[in-house]
Amino acid sequence: MKDSIIVVGSVALDSIQTPFGKINRGVGGSSVYSSLAASFFAKVAVIGVVGKDFPEDFLKKMKKRGINTDGIKRVPGKTFFWRGKYSWDLSTAITLDTQLNVFEKFDPSVPEDLRNSKYLFLANIDPVLQKKVLRQMKFPKTGKYTALDTMNFWIESKKKKIGALLPDLDAILINEAEIRQYTGEHNIIKAAKKLLKAGVKTVVVKKGEYGVGCFSKNEMFFLPAYPLEDAVDPTGAGDSFAGAFMGFLASSEKITWGRIKKAAAYGTVISSFTVSGFGVNGLINLKKSDINKRYKEFVKLVHFEEVKI
Ligand code: AMP
Repeated sequence: MKDSIIVVGSVALDSIQTPFGKINRGVGGSSVYSSLAASFFAKVAVIGVVGKDFPEDFLKKMKKRGINTDGIKRVPGKTFFWRGKYSWDLSTAITLDTQLNVFEKFDPSVPEDLRNSKYLFLANIDPVLQKKVLRQMKFPKTGKYTALDTMNFWIESKKKKIGALLPDLDAILINEAEIRQYTGEHNIIKAAKKLLKAGVKTVVVKKGEYGVGCFSKNEMFFLPAYPLEDAVDPTGAGDSFAGAFMGFLASSEKITWGRIKKAAAYGTVISSFTVSGFGVNGLINLKKSDINKRYKEFVKLVHFEEVKI
């Protein structure tokens, strides 16, 4: 294993309702889903904050998966809370409540011995916090890879702060509603081009059950989602896609377009497990062998041979 991936993002308690069931104050958060997914491929260290109500037990489970949780501070107050619901098509989350709680006064600090890591994932959280973490990094001269995820809540309130981060990013992972909202462009290809023009090198557009599109200056690549019969809760699909994407790249010798495509395939496979369970249940007991098996099936599913007629 190479350098740790530094992840900053929400560590949350979520109340979720979908047409297939609900969960009340279950563990969630962008950095939880993404670090769990990344931990199958690389070392991960999470920077975040929780309140007194966050279960210690869950931090132990993360540690058991090899995740460095020393950067998750416990402070007086309540953990970040999100309440959301999905309608019948399970496409977009409808936010019913967001309580930043302990994240409101959070001043992130990357431990000194992790500041020279090569890989940074700015998972969905206030872009002001994302910037603070980015500025603390002392990336090695031999290379770095930085990616960011965000959502409508931050695009509405802090769009300029997100924009200021784009030139420093190797990749942005964003869903189709968010990229339309951010760029004001309905067409996804045109929208991705706008973000590329703003300085980010790769744009990954997540389209739920319709898969994902990856864009760089000279390349485009599309993958369908893994076909599932038992999708019950899409929460965390985007975060776990991003975690696996980063994790696979961090485990690669060199980052090439071919590896970015493979990272997107692993992201697709992991997020298919996430949506099969409520909250983190689809991820927490997952094994690398389950991922590898589904990855092989997925490669077969998307393979297409030209037939001469
Ligand atoms: P997704 O992968 O987009 O489904 O992300 C779901 C996770 O995002 C949930 O576990 C929430 O706790 C978290 N979340 C929701 N709203 C926010 C927000 N405004 N900032 C950071 N994280 C959030």
